[in-house]
Amino acid sequence: MNARRVIKGIGTSSGVSIGRAYVLERGKIPVPKRNIKPESHEKEIAKFKAALKDAQEELNSIKDRLDEEIRRHAFIIDTHLLILQDDFLINSVVDTIRKENVNAEWALDLVVSKIINTLEKVEDPYLKERAQDIHYVYKRLMRIMVKKVKSDIDSVNVSGKTIIVAHDLSPADTIHLNLKKISGFVTDIGGRTSHTSIVARALEIPAVVGAQTASSTIKNFERVIIDGDEGIVIVNPTEEDLKYYSHKQKILREKKNEYVKIARLKSETRDGFKVKIGANIELIPEMEIVEKYGGEGIGLYRTEYLYLSRNSIPTEEEHFQVYKKLAEKRSFKYVTVRTLDIGGDKFSSSLDISKELNPAMGLRAVRLCIREVPLFKSQLKGILRASAYGPLRILIPMVSGLEEIRKVKEIISECMAELDEKGIEYKKDIEIGVMVEVPSSCLISEILAKEVNFFSIGTNDLIQYTLAIDRVNEYVSYLYEPLHPAVLRLIKTTIDAAHKEGIEVALCGEMASEPLYIPVLLGLGIDELSMNPYSIPRAKSVIRKLDQNYCRNLAMHVLGMKSGKEAEDFLKVELSELLKDEWILVDNRYDPQKGKDY
Ligand code: PEP
Ligand code: MG
Repeated sequence: MNARRVIKGIGTSSGVSIGRAYVLERGKIPVPKRNIKPESHEKEIAKFKAALKDAQEELNSIKDRLDEEIRRHAFIIDTHLLILQDDFLINSVVDTIRKENVNAEWALDLVVSKIINTLEKVEDPYLKERAQDIHYVYKRLMRIMVKKVKSDIDSVNVSGKTIIVAHDLSPADTIHLNLKKISGFVTDIGGRTSHTSIVARALEIPAVVGAQTASSTIKNFERVIIDGDEGIVIVNPTEEDLKYYSHKQKILREKKNEYVKIARLKSETRDGFKVKIGANIELIPEMEIVEKYGGEGIGLYRTEYLYLSRNSIPTEEEHFQVYKKLAEKRSFKYVTVRTLDIGGDKFSSSLDISKELNPAMGLRAVRLCIREVPLFKSQLKGILRASAYGPLRILIPMVSGLEEIRKVKEIISECMAELDEKGIEYKKDIEIGVMVEVPSSCLISEILAKEVNFFSIGTNDLIQYTLAIDRVNEYVSYLYEPLHPAVLRLIKTTIDAAHKEGIEVALCGEMASEPLYIPVLLGLGIDELSMNPYSIPRAKSVIRKLDQNYCRNLAMHVLGMKSGKEAEDFLKVELSELLKDEWILVDNRYDPQKGKDY
């Protein structure tokens, strides 16, 4: 029997999946290399041309089968179709067959290697990406010619539960998959906003990304368990693992069903304090999930996805159409659209952001937008126009000082004037908020609070910058402590300053969904929590057990603690009875590393 292995990654789409691995795209396709006689030229050319035709047919049929929600990526297939008709590519392969006396596969390999080498040397990121497209087309043609008629990815047709394991999945890969047959994703690289994570969450499929060695160590059809909450992949699980995770899967499903039933309950403490509960989303189809799990509104719409996996920058009209869909959703009381937060750990192929030594602290988010005003304006005007259709508000990420938010307000005023000139309607008093996620903005929150209508604390980044720990570096992840006294003090400073100015404060980092932290956040006076949609019912269930006085005392007590660990240990004991139902899955006695109870 093969040995049991545990791979640690980042859980980015909730749930447990148990199934067989299907490893995509490992290794190169062996290229047959033969010298041929001139009389074989025409035969080889005919083989190459037939492969071009077959590849076109395959791509067209994939395009026809695309699911609605990923149809917008069809342009990738169109790009590949265009490459298949490219005269330069076709003529070069034909010439190489004739001049070099080599078979079609070898000729294709020689030609494509030359093109890719040239493109990869170019600094331009657009051309660099074209190299990837050409490589993709090359692999398709090569497979056809070496008689592996279908590509790896098209043939994911295995019956039963299939867990896709890959180094990374590009949008091009995902659109080729039959998503209905897939019960989990594991990738070597990636984070919460990587394409795989986003698609997995939208489809409610568990995913673990950043599982470094997964695609090079997991073999096809090996049995795999993935835990999309804990970020764990177990290969060749033991009977004990299977027993534990089948049980966990069952409880998760039952909990999910239970939670759907209570999703509509009010998020109100026992003494009647209403805490708004919103959702963090990236995709329009996720709106339905938010509704199903009882989100009152959207606390964070991450707009980066609109810029990812495309070759051009979205137009004002494209922005408008997307935000209008959100605005028109009647069940949402508010929709917070965060302006572009690209840079740092989030990348785009359509924007030319030069490589920086320290991207988390570089030209990202609002800094980039202020520099690229036309780009920023097309998004802002899209939001403003959509605000005529529903309760949209604007959230500005990564603000670190007063001048930045003043500049943003100036640009928004210019956008309004431009829309006025054209007689286009928008909400004149649209709310503008600062995403408080840089320590400096917490420390000057009383200054910023006078400038805007609301705050949203982004603890994912706030913790990163306060404790100086790279949020995507696994070696320092043990230092990531939401209850660190420095973090709690910054949150308190921000909430107090906002309330003094009469504005509300949301918290939209991962911390907002954790049952252990919710009572403390309520005690500090938070007005809104925003989280991934699946966690909403559990958060409501926690809130409904609390009362404000208890939370205030608890928060005061925790604020007096000397370390995050001390606070965490205290809360685990203090809240164990009150939150035992919400904790079944959080505080278990199973150690996946050892595969047994500890
Ligand atoms: C945050 O920083 O806490 C946040 C919610 O935003 P993101 O994770 O997109 O940076
Ligand atoms: Mg952030």
